[in-house]
Amino acid sequence: MRRLRNAKIVATVGPASSDPAMLARLFRAGADVFRLNFSHGTHDDHRARLDAIRALEREVGRPIGVLMDLQGPKLRVGRFASGPVMLHPGQHFRLDLDAATPGDDNRAPLPHPEIFAAIGPGTDLLLDDGRIRLRVVESGPDYAHTEVIEGGPLSDRKGVNVPGVVLPLSAMTEKDRVDLEFGLSLGVDWIALSFVQRAEDIREIKQLVDGRAGVMAKLEKPAAIAELESILAESDAVMVARGDLGVEMPAEQVPAIQKRIVRACRRIGKPVVVATQMLESMVNAPVPTRAEASDVATAVYDGADAVMLSAESASGKYPVEAVRMMNDIIAQTEADPHYREVMEASQTPPAPDIANAIGRAMRGVAGLLHVATTVAYTSSGYSAMRMSRERPEAPIIGMTPNLATARRMALVWGVHAVVIHEVDSVGEMTAYACETALSEGFAKVGQTIVISAGMPFGSSGTTNLLRIATVEAPEA
Ligand code: PGA
Ligand code: MN
Repeated sequence: MRRLRNAKIVATVGPASSDPAMLARLFRAGADVFRLNFSHGTHDDHRARLDAIRALEREVGRPIGVLMDLQGPKLRVGRFASGPVMLHPGQHFRLDLDAATPGDDNRAPLPHPEIFAAIGPGTDLLLDDGRIRLRVVESGPDYAHTEVIEGGPLSDRKGVNVPGVVLPLSAMTEKDRVDLEFGLSLGVDWIALSFVQRAEDIREIKQLVDGRAGVMAKLEKPAAIAELESILAESDAVMVARGDLGVEMPAEQVPAIQKRIVRACRRIGKPVVVATQMLESMVNAPVPTRAEASDVATAVYDGADAVMLSAESASGKYPVEAVRMMNDIIAQTEADPHYREVMEASQTPPAPDIANAIGRAMRGVAGLLHVATTVAYTSSGYSAMRMSRERPEAPIIGMTPNLATARRMALVWGVHAVVIHEVDSVGEMTAYACETALSEGFAKVGQTIVISAGMPFGSSGTTNLLRIATVEAPEA
C-alpha cells in the first residue's frame, strides 16, 4: 500500500473519529499520523484510540505514526457565579488570584500568579482565542485593573493569552508530566509540547522522554519565534501552531512566520507540520472554501513535511471528506510542474557533514540516473531524513529494523517506511533494498536504485555509505 504523494497528513482524533472503523476510514483516505490531543479526553479515551490505531496498523501492514499533544501551560480564567458575563468596551474589569470567589460583571478570578508578576500598565491580555482584549491600567502581585478594549461574552475557563510577555512558566505543568508518562507507557511516537518559549523547555522534556519518542516543539508564542534557531536546534520536529500563534501575534504576521519556519526547518532537515484551520469550514460542510484549498496547497508548495487537521477530523461532521480533500489537494499540487520548480529553487545547501554529503550525493545520483527509487537503510531515521531534506523527485524508502523508527518516519516528507530484519553486511543490505523496492512496487527488475546507509550497521548517526544497485529478479 503506497501513497502517491510526498507531504504527509496528520489527523487529530476526537469524538468524531475514535471509533476503530472510522480510524480505518481516515487511514485509507490518507491519514499518515494520528494526533491524540491531551487538552481533551481521558487517559482511557486515549488508550482506546491508541489500541485501535495499533490494531489498524497490523491489519493494513503499514507503520502509522501517533503524535501525543501535551496541553502545556494554557492559561485560563476561573469560573463565574451565574453564567457568562458581557464585557463592554471602555468598562473596567478586575482580575485577581481569589479563585474561591466566582466572577461577576466586574471581576473574574485568574489563578495564575505568574501573569500578575509579569504584567504592568499597558500590557494587553487576550481572552477566548483573542476575541476579548483587556488592557492593564494598574496591577499588583495578586490583581490587575484593566480596561476592556474589545468586548464580548466571557464564560467559565476561557483561555488567556499574554502576547509578547515571556512568562516564567515551565512548558510542562503537573498534568503534562502525568500525561507524558502515560503517553510514553502507551508507546506514542512523537510528543508535541505546547507554548514552548525557549530552547530550555525542549531540553527539559527531552531529558524526561530520553529517546523514547521524537519531541516536537509547537511554535505558538512570539517568544518562540524570537528564539527560533535555538529551539529548532534542540527539537526533533516543529509545528507551526497557527491557532494560538494567530492570537498571540497579529494574524497578518502569521503567513510570513509560517514561511520562515518552514524554510528554517528545510534548511536543517527537520520535519515541520503546518497546523490549524487548514480546512476549518469542513467542520460543518462537505467541501472547503477556495481559500482553504489554497492554504493547504501553499504549505505543500513551501515544502512542509505535513499538514494537519484539528477539529475537522476530531469533532467535525465530515472527518473522512476532510482527510480525502487534503489528500487530493496535496496530490494535485505535487503534480503541478511548477511544484518541482519551486522545490528546486527553494533548496539550500546542507551543513557540511558526512550524512548531508551522502544525502546530497544520493539526490545527484537519483537525478542523473533517473533511478526508480532511493532507499535509506536507517536505524534512527536519520539517513532517511537526510534524503528527505533534499526533496528528491524519486521516491524515498526508509528501510529500518526498528518499528518505532518506521512509525516516526510517517511524519517525514516523502518517506515510505518499511520494517525489515537487521542486516550485517552491505551485500545483505543491498539485497534487502532491491527486494523491498520490488515488493513495495517502487522498482521493476532491471531498474537502478540508490541506497544510503551507515556503517557500522545498527548504530545511529553514522550515515556514510552510498551504493548504487540494479534490481535483479528474485531467486526462485
Ligand atoms: P492546539 O495547537 O490545537 O493544541 O491549540 C495548535 C494551534 O494552536 O494551532
Ligand atoms: Mn495551540
